[in-house]
Amino acid sequence: MSKVDDTQAVRALAATDPEFLDAHLAQLDPVPLLLVYTHLSGDESLLEAFQPHIKGAWSFEVDVPDALFAELRARTIAVFKDYARDERPLPPAPDMDRLQRMCDVAVGQNVPSEYLPMVLEELNFDQTDAKSVRWRKPVPAERLAQFHVLVVGLGYSGLAMAIKLKEAGIPFTVIEKNDDVGGTWYENTYPGVAVDTPNHFYSYSFRASSEWDHYFALGPEVINYIRTVYAESGIAEHVRFEQEVTRATWNESEAKWEVSIRRADGSEYSLSANAFVSGTGLLNRPSIPAIAGLDTFEGPKFHSAQWDHDVDLTAKNVVQIGTGASGMQIAPQIAPKVGHLTIFQRSPHWARKNPLLFAQVSDGVKWGLEHVPFYTKWWRFQLLYATSDGMLPTLRKDPDWPEPETSLNAANKLIREQLIEHMRSELKGDEALLAKVTPAFPPYGKRMLRDGNWFQTLTRDNVELVTSGIDRVTPSGVIDRDGVEHPADVIILATGFKAQAPLYPMEIIGRAGSIRDHWGDDNPRAHLGITVPDFPNLFILYGPGTNGGHGGSAVFNSECQVRYTMMALRELIERDAASLDVRRAPFDDYQQVFDAEHAQLVWTHPGVNNWYRNKDGRVVTNSPWRLSHYRNLTADFKAEDYDIKAAKVSA
Ligand code: NAP
Repeated sequence: MSKVDDTQAVRALAATDPEFLDAHLAQLDPVPLLLVYTHLSGDESLLEAFQPHIKGAWSFEVDVPDALFAELRARTIAVFKDYARDERPLPPAPDMDRLQRMCDVAVGQNVPSEYLPMVLEELNFDQTDAKSVRWRKPVPAERLAQFHVLVVGLGYSGLAMAIKLKEAGIPFTVIEKNDDVGGTWYENTYPGVAVDTPNHFYSYSFRASSEWDHYFALGPEVINYIRTVYAESGIAEHVRFEQEVTRATWNESEAKWEVSIRRADGSEYSLSANAFVSGTGLLNRPSIPAIAGLDTFEGPKFHSAQWDHDVDLTAKNVVQIGTGASGMQIAPQIAPKVGHLTIFQRSPHWARKNPLLFAQVSDGVKWGLEHVPFYTKWWRFQLLYATSDGMLPTLRKDPDWPEPETSLNAANKLIREQLIEHMRSELKGDEALLAKVTPAFPPYGKRMLRDGNWFQTLTRDNVELVTSGIDRVTPSGVIDRDGVEHPADVIILATGFKAQAPLYPMEIIGRAGSIRDHWGDDNPRAHLGITVPDFPNLFILYGPGTNGGHGGSAVFNSECQVRYTMMALRELIERDAASLDVRRAPFDDYQQVFDAEHAQLVWTHPGVNNWYRNKDGRVVTNSPWRLSHYRNLTADFKAEDYDIKAAKVSA
């Protein structure tokens, strides 16, 4: 973990042999180093020199001449020496004007100014975590001691929530159904499981790590990170593993949630809490398809999120159903090992290549992340920007666009053409296969996947892609809609999750009945994705409409929700209030702008069938917002949006 951003680190570098130091700096990415230099020195002259050589935010879009890079290193070494000689502390974050110029050059385009506050928070220069919610007035210890928060789930979101509750001194309990921390990253252990957001950004803003081995970490790396943060957090005494919340009922007279919890042995107990925070996520309940005969299959069958590692796939006939994010990661890993792999694709997905997908973070870069002050932060900025909102403007429907079935606008069409070119080259000119894997809908209509040798895998002799659909499963195979039987020893269901029923299968009963009565099977709605009218003191992390469909990081969104929840709790505690309940008007207004925004975007395209839309065609899982906009929406808690009830005055 990086602990480098202090004067000691600069002194250590200044005392290092200059030749050794230069050789090490030469292994770093030039752009974050340019930002380190500009930040430490205040000298902006190199920004101009670098500008023509930076075409985009990804490091592979940068081509800096050797002489210029050498000049940067020499100046950086000199700055280290100045700091050490003068015993100067590291500077604060750059002012907004300089930050703007630095960011613009670093990503090869103008960074809208609304991003800058978000960038400063993410980079956390003063190490105080700008997203932490601080008390505005002294809170009596007795008041805090009487307050209790129940958090469900200890994945990325629940852990962040627990850490912030501990920091604020608010008593809490975490209930986790698994026997370990990590949520989806604990459960998903299928071959090839990996992040498709660069993990130097897909990690907490308040807990940078210099130890990632990959740009896109593999599952075990992610779970290690989460376990490390958990171990350091000191929250173990608050956590109850292998217990599951089954039901929570709002008790109006007590202004508390009465929560039923089932232990691993099946016994139940209850606990009451002033606030109930769900960190159960969106993608934690496997969706098992209703395919005729599936139960009659005699061999092993399992969902991608429940991988059975006891089943040896070597030389077996394997049927994989599903070609989404999980399926696309699984097939390339198992294809070389199995006898024959039959993949059932119901509809194709778009997938992009990223040169860094399997790249290892070099030892040189790890050294920089570990030793060069602020390098981790500027590195995070570069990856954040590369993977965030750049695509969103291209996902807007142009009402005058003449080819609306297959693309949305000129930029989207260009992406479509590039993706088809990529597939054609990977498929080695097999036009029949190309036709099968080319979506009819515009790029980004479903989650844009990362091509980790998926298309090449489809060209293997032992791999067959079946697109005619599944008629039924038999005891020994799968019969497609053309009547062809595909023998199977093992069936893998890479068929996704029940994403449209957040909080499922918990029964949540508010002031006016169950949350299912409000949402139906598939129409979850929440103010900012977090609070629901008539469910006082209930907060949902990674809730309805907050999944990032165009880019970004789920960790970023959940940190926004944690901050918002913490501000709500502060309001309750500081006012000594009993409950807060989001008002109808702001809730309805938010749903209206949310739906209106989605109507402009690709996920409501009529040709797209994705897990983001419910059966009425409404997008219920995805955020339509730029990251900066969602950050702005959630960065203040507007008390006027809530009915806040005072605590009962005891007689
Ligand atoms: P998914 O994207 O929902 O894909 C499910 C696949 O199963 C789709 O191809 C779907 O076809 C198919 N399917 C579902 N029911 C079927 C049926 N009855 N018959 C035939 N095919 C059926 O699920 P996922 O791949 O597990 O990914 C879910 C989400 O998890 C992703 O979108 C992503 O947010 C996250 N994830 C992320 C990563 C990562 O970061 N690398 C990896 C895995 C998952 P249709 O497309 O026709 O519906």
